Amino acid sequence: MSYQVIARKWRPQTFSEVVYQDHVSTTIRNSIKNGRISHAYLFAGPRGVGKTTMARIVAKSLNCASGPTDNPCGKCRNCIEIRDGHSFDVMEIDGASNRGIENIRELRESVAFAPVEGRYKIYIIDEVHMLTKEAFNALLKTLEEPPPHVVFIFATTEIHQVPETILSRCQKFYFKKMAVGAIADHLAHITKNEGFTIDESALYAIARAADGSMRDAQSLLDQVISFSEGHINEESALAILGIVPMESHIALLRHIADERAADAIMELDRVINLGADMPRYVAGFADTLRAIRLMKNGIDLKPILGLSAQETDMLNSAKALFNDEELSVFFRIITDLQRDLRFSPNERISIEMSVLDLIAAKARPTIAEIVQKLEEGTPQKDEKKKNERLTEEDRTPHNSAGKTPQKDEVSKHQLTKTAVKQEHRTIPAATNANAPSAAVIEPETAPVPDTDEGNDPLTEKLIDLFHAKVINNKGEQ
Ligand SMILES: [Zn+2]
Repeated sequence: MSYQVIARKWRPQTFSEVVYQDHVSTTIRNSIKNGRISHAYLFAGPRGVGKTTMARIVAKSLNCASGPTDNPCGKCRNCIEIRDGHSFDVMEIDGASNRGIENIRELRESVAFAPVEGRYKIYIIDEVHMLTKEAFNALLKTLEEPPPHVVFIFATTEIHQVPETILSRCQKFYFKKMAVGAIADHLAHITKNEGFTIDESALYAIARAADGSMRDAQSLLDQVISFSEGHINEESALAILGIVPMESHIALLRHIADERAADAIMELDRVINLGADMPRYVAGFADTLRAIRLMKNGIDLKPILGLSAQETDMLNSAKALFNDEELSVFFRIITDLQRDLRFSPNERISIEMSVLDLIAAKARPTIAEIVQKLEEGTPQKDEKKKNERLTEEDRTPHNSAGKTPQKDEVSKHQLTKTAVKQEHRTIPAATNANAPSAAVIEPETAPVPDTDEGNDPLTEKLIDLFHAKVINNKGEQ
């Protein structure tokens, strides 16, 4: 018997088999039961969440020998032909490769003919947003006066690119990105029925890697199954998929927390040598940061992220390593990295530089720490370094605020930090701690920060303290 890929073998054939899109199934079932069949449906949502599958089930419901029914038999000739993609009455069109006006003209001509076997002629147009403007205009004419036997089902991942004139003539349904837990449950069901056993941690790792797409999850599972004999453990699953377990992210975070740059770079080296898919590794790291930050903010993760019990424990143990402000800065550095990786000629260098940025960010005091220190007393002599930092921290927010006032406090903060790093190299080593030199403060060239630019309360406080402690001190000298 030839091997049938899981996504195909396990493609839902009835509304009740569709996973995670109950809100769509229920509404459509009710409308079919009540005989309120629309001439145009639009299914919007991310890739791999069941839009085309749902379209085929609707087609079967309408053309089943015992239909229209919300429970197609799956056995009649029409149902079988639709399932196998052979029905003369159900046209599946890929909008991406049939996007021109001539394609839609052809479609309009065929629309006029009655269905061959079923009650309806059903046109399923996938990625409908790809149609040209002219094609949409031609389509619109049919949508305005559709023959009674015609039903259109449009699917799109980019609903905002579909013209309003088309949207307003469709019944719209929004498909959800699949939750990790829902994917993991379904994969568990499949593996069991395929005669395999699988570790919970492997299930969750695959489900997370699929990023909300059941189709992706199933093809990842296909890969793993074809390399396994009976049992799938986490290690082999991850090795096959090039996914690195969360332990590595946590190890990396510990090195960052301890400011151990060499160890952090070594951990990256280890992962790269394992042959890991590095953009996916970085995405996993972002997930880990997100999970830690949500946990720190008291948000229950189980239903949101879908984590195995072991992973939850690991994250709990890493929670105390960073404060919220640091995690926020980290997340921006990693988001920037993810964007850069799309264009980077050398993934490794980009990732290494970002990891060093994370360590630098951890090493610098946060605004909250600076404010706290200043409130505790004036650290003049022994805390020279922090004073220098403060000076720079304070100056740059004002400068960047001039360009983008009242916006984006965190990235402003990041800019500040970059400036600090660069400035430190130019500051003379023998600066007198008691009298901050012009090179450090430069009151003439570094204007005193305004306080009316909509800073957050912490920054406002910092600026006030800066005035009180640093500027005034300098004046006295
Ligand atoms: Zn049937």
